[in-house]
Amino acid sequence: MSEIIIGIDLGTTNSEVAIVENGKVTVIADGENRTMLPSFVGIGEGGEILVGEPARNQYVLYPERTIKSIKRRMGEPIQVEMAGKHYSPQEISAIILKRLKSVAEEYIKKPIQKAVITVPAYFSDAQRQATREAGEIAGLDVVRIINEPTAAALAYEVKHEVHKHILVYDLGGGTFDVSVVGIEDDVVEVLASHGNNKLGGDDFDAKITQHIVRHIHDQHGIDLTESRQVMARINRAAEGAKRALSDQPFVRIDEEYLFEKEGAPIHLSLELSRYEYESMIAEYIDETLEAVHIALSGANLVASDIDEILLVGGSTRTPVISERLFDEFGLEPQRNIDPDLCVAMGAAIQAGMIAGESVSAVLVDVTPYTYGTSVIGELHGEYYSFKYVPVIRKNTPLPTSKTEAFYTASDGQQEVLVHVYQGEDEDALNNIEIGEFKVKGLRNVPAGNTVTMTFDLDLNGILHISAREKETGLEKSITIGNAIARFQEEEMEQAKARVNALFGTDLVGEYTKEEKGAKEEHHTQVKAHALVEKAQKLLDKAADEDKEDIIDLIEQINDGLAGKHFDVVEEAVEKLADILYYLEN
Ligand code: AMP
Repeated sequence: MSEIIIGIDLGTTNSEVAIVENGKVTVIADGENRTMLPSFVGIGEGGEILVGEPARNQYVLYPERTIKSIKRRMGEPIQVEMAGKHYSPQEISAIILKRLKSVAEEYIKKPIQKAVITVPAYFSDAQRQATREAGEIAGLDVVRIINEPTAAALAYEVKHEVHKHILVYDLGGGTFDVSVVGIEDDVVEVLASHGNNKLGGDDFDAKITQHIVRHIHDQHGIDLTESRQVMARINRAAEGAKRALSDQPFVRIDEEYLFEKEGAPIHLSLELSRYEYESMIAEYIDETLEAVHIALSGANLVASDIDEILLVGGSTRTPVISERLFDEFGLEPQRNIDPDLCVAMGAAIQAGMIAGESVSAVLVDVTPYTYGTSVIGELHGEYYSFKYVPVIRKNTPLPTSKTEAFYTASDGQQEVLVHVYQGEDEDALNNIEIGEFKVKGLRNVPAGNTVTMTFDLDLNGILHISAREKETGLEKSITIGNAIARFQEEEMEQAKARVNALFGTDLVGEYTKEEKGAKEEHHTQVKAHALVEKAQKLLDKAADEDKEDIIDLIEQINDGLAGKHFDVVEEAVEKLADILYYLEN
């Protein structure tokens, strides 16, 4: 067996170690099955050294005994203070490296002497040198320092015989980097890089923290920023909320006994929506996209030259990032390798190559299909009852759980029929319907009642879907056994035929003519209600003659619905949708 060289991602927030064994990459877990070591170092109660989780945990209580984000200071001629003593950034980083080295040694049961360590592409010589020194202090011979985007590209493209331009968007806890990487024959190189080494997930946490501080100030007239301990606690709650919002549309931030006011304990309980959160961080996301364009022009390329987008760093789990990149490039970013682990994996691949190992492609369990549901919405400028909303996207690592918020379309709507589809088409009817269920007994309230939908997909391809009325907790769910293997070709054809038939006159498959009729009537009603409501809102914007037409059409729709003349309703809906479309555009 060739000599073992470990690959290390020495991150601002988290660090990881990986190796190549028998041609396969493994990110090594510690005794407690954790692959990510928080990049925190501290001195404990009894003067002992703490690394990772325990240091991170005590940060809340003893910030003066704990060091975080030391990577930001690498290469600076400074000393940081920890429990009254002074250390160089290299020494603090060495403590993290030493822990990773011993995690790897416990795993392979042999001493390790060599490592490949990754650094950001923008790191200066001084910063790279400091990283080497940290390795040496930890007892490691740093055989190579490689750029993080190069490592990420290696993890995705082990066999890089192809010619490609890859955009690596790396948003971690404390740093943002975007690089354009070129792969040609055997050479993987960073063509251009840009970023901000003071921008990352920590800033997102800070926005939520400020929001909480403002909330408490408004409610109790108290300034929490005066207590370092309370602030550390809120910051942690903010980070938890942020992570939750990557998978669900709302989060409740609960912190009991946050402080005392006139002898009485004050608890924090605040709801935050993904929508509010996204507007808090919008300026940061804009900044990252500006950097993307600077990197592109630095590489003398335009958006359409990019073949793939890779996401690196924990913060790229924030859904709005993929959405904005898709808008800019028309490419769905790759998400099949854990964004927290792919740099360490690439470092291990590089290490394996240096050691003479042959390395095979990184294999992960991902969903090969997108799953979602349908809503009434605008499709190609028209109101349509089956607009597809993906919930779990193709290539998401399994298991996964995603929640999205939906809103009732009409006043007093007490039922929702949930359709579950597999596929990518924005018209849900071109996808495969794999299940449906009805939620009954919703509150009798105006349109806009929130119903959240959770899709859980496990490693066995079992898809569990639940819909929940947010206010009351009323819930209904279904489980679709083996959603992934389910649609083999023959069934796929049948399903397609069935779906296509919904448009035509020939009805095949499960639905009887009556059922189909009832379904269509229901959709016409829902669509009509939504449109009428929208029309009423836009009425003020309309010119006088349009106004008359709109009012006229609303009347026709209402009369048609009352008399169950669905043809009349359909016709009026179409005309009204046309007018509204022009009014809005
Ligand atoms: P890294 O420096 O790459 O380890 O990234 C760490 C950052 O990713 C921290 O700011 C985390 O709060 C953030 N992060 C981790 N998981 C998520 C998530 N599910 N959604 C949003 N941010 C996350």
